[in-house]
Amino acid sequence: MIEYDPSYIFPQMVSSIMKLVVLGSGTSVPHARRAAAGFWLQTNTGSLLLDASADIAHRSAQERLDWPNLDSIWISHFHLDHLGGLAPFLFGVRWAPQTQRRRKELRIFGPHGLRRILETFDAAGEYKLLDQPFPLQLFEVEPNQQFEILPDIFARTFSTPHTPESMAIRISERDGNSIVYTSDTGLSEELIDFCGAASVLLLECSFHRGKPVKTHLELSEAMEIARVSAPERLVLTHLYPEWDEVDIVAEAKKLWPGETIEAFDGLHLEF
Ligand SMILES: [Zn+2]
Ligand SMILES: [Zn+2]
Repeated sequence: MIEYDPSYIFPQMVSSIMKLVVLGSGTSVPHARRAAAGFWLQTNTGSLLLDASADIAHRSAQERLDWPNLDSIWISHFHLDHLGGLAPFLFGVRWAPQTQRRRKELRIFGPHGLRRILETFDAAGEYKLLDQPFPLQLFEVEPNQQFEILPDIFARTFSTPHTPESMAIRISERDGNSIVYTSDTGLSEELIDFCGAASVLLLECSFHRGKPVKTHLELSEAMEIARVSAPERLVLTHLYPEWDEVDIVAEAKKLWPGETIEAFDGLHLEF
């Protein structure tokens, strides 16, 4: 029996599958079940690490991900629950047996100042973190910049109200899937526009209610972003320990009827 392959008939209409793996759904507060921020995005053209907390190197291995061949890294801002694992990862891959034959380039993208931080760390211990067995390129990008983050996968950045350098990122296939990762952020109208109609919106939801700072989101704000931007699927992450006692999905449902997923370490999501 002949089966029709729709991708053969309508090649331009069928988008490929992306896979998101949550390495760390937590925050800077040490937690037994939630590592600090890190997400692995696998596309048909390569792999991308979104943020690099201190936990990501070993969490990647735990999830059986192909860390020796990671293609690109995105750093959203310089808080150490998002950046603190970059130097240890580079130290790890510099010496790991699995990377000694690697010749493929690793590309790191992040805000202005990332190079200075890495070079300062490097100089303090003479680690030679930027001198790898394989080529490494570091790109400092601006808000509202567009660039190719993986082959045929495009990224756009957006300045968020969290720290002076913090940025959200929108990652899209040509005519296909898109994922928005806000990282840490306060609420802004412009951010809601930026999040519009993503396949997956990976959104911080630090607090339940009565947030102690303006520069993070609480549930009602996260769900306002979801309601207006209407993602196909919403993944709530960056969960402080106060969420341990609360059914976040049930609370979210009261505010938005769409599909809300609670991030947890080890979540694998295909879209
Ligand atoms: Zn954070
Ligand atoms: Zn932060």
